[in-house]
Amino acid sequence: MSEYRNDTKCIHAGYHPGNGEPRVLPIVQSTTFRYETSEAMGRLFDLEDPGFFYTRLGNPTLDAVEQKIAALEGGVGAMLTSSGQAATMLAVLNICHAGSHVVSSSAIYGGTFNLLYKTLAELGIACTFVNPDCSPEELEAAFRENTRCVFAETLSNPSLNVTDLELFAEKAHAHGVPLIVDNTFPTPMNCRPFAFGADIVTHSTTKYMDGHAVQVGGCIVDSGNFNWENGKFPMLTEPDESYHGITYVKQFGKAAYITKARTHLMRDIGAQASPMNAFLLNLGLETLALRMERHCSNAMKVAEYLEKHEKISWINYPSLPSNPNHALAKKYMPHGTCGVISFGIKGGREAAMRFMDSLKLASVVTHVADLRTCVLHPASTTHRQMTEEQLLEAGISADLIRMSVGIENIDDILEDIAQALENA
Ligand code: PLP
Repeated sequence: MSEYRNDTKCIHAGYHPGNGEPRVLPIVQSTTFRYETSEAMGRLFDLEDPGFFYTRLGNPTLDAVEQKIAALEGGVGAMLTSSGQAATMLAVLNICHAGSHVVSSSAIYGGTFNLLYKTLAELGIACTFVNPDCSPEELEAAFRENTRCVFAETLSNPSLNVTDLELFAEKAHAHGVPLIVDNTFPTPMNCRPFAFGADIVTHSTTKYMDGHAVQVGGCIVDSGNFNWENGKFPMLTEPDESYHGITYVKQFGKAAYITKARTHLMRDIGAQASPMNAFLLNLGLETLALRMERHCSNAMKVAEYLEKHEKISWINYPSLPSNPNHALAKKYMPHGTCGVISFGIKGGREAAMRFMDSLKLASVVTHVADLRTCVLHPASTTHRQMTEEQLLEAGISADLIRMSVGIENIDDILEDIAQALENA
């Protein structure tokens, strides 16, 4: 499918029905697959033959959606997970173990911050957080001899910082480690991080990729570009005794990382997507290109409206020319960022609450990036576990309202905001 453009791949990549087969990707709701002989199945277990044998490790519905997302990102392979959180965790655990160290941007989703700051730290994987706007010298200073990956979000949730992907990739590579980028907000329609040096991409497919808020899911995509053979990643370059001594880079070449994520971590940890959820995700992916265009054009109009409104104290939308991240946004996301905007209302936290309670079309939900306009107050919800200091480092002020602009008619969205601002 490489000759097709991304909007065509959204519809066609990953599933190519043969003569008389279903035109729509079928839901293969089966945990297991039948083989004629034990020997044939044994070859699958030894990774000698390709094929499905147990849905934790692979399933035709998941496989088609994995191929589609890999094609959209321009990677060599992908693996669906049960959530975005699972994708991040498995992406890091695939190359880090007790004693390893991660360098991460501090402007990341609250759940990812918890994962790195607490859960992985408790497993012996330390993390140093850097300001997303750090200088090359500050970024350099965060590395240690045991650093094994760098993590960042292309466009951070909810602070909407644009990561300088080329800078982060250059520093990561200078230290012989990969850059893992969470590309949830722009999606591959608006940014393909591999083109800027990222090595691994993760997604919460729960967001725009699905777009209808009907499934929680995640995905890891491998660019196939990172050279694992620099002595820092024995888990990929030395024999894995749990697979009769296979060496991932020798047997799977460019797909070593993503193969190990599946055959080792998915085998041992689980957290796979269900066939039904993969099917629903695929329906969302089919319209991703159209939806992202509309999200971006609607959000731009809302941002322009809010920027001029007397009750708004500040607004953050990187596509606005006045935004400090505008140049980075233009470089990495020239066709638009996404539908998410953050802003503050004069009158602080209380005015923010009145505004949110007055909205009629937009709903207050713990969600972002689906086709319905919605709002959230991160400091009292998704990021409430953070200290004031951590909130500031993550770029979240107490008055921050995150608005996820949907794909409804723009005039209805603007009228709803206008009437709610009158009550704020
Ligand atoms: N990454 C980003 C950027 C997110 O916004 C989220 C959730 O909001 C996650 C990861 C975690 O994804 P999930 O909720 O699917 O576990």
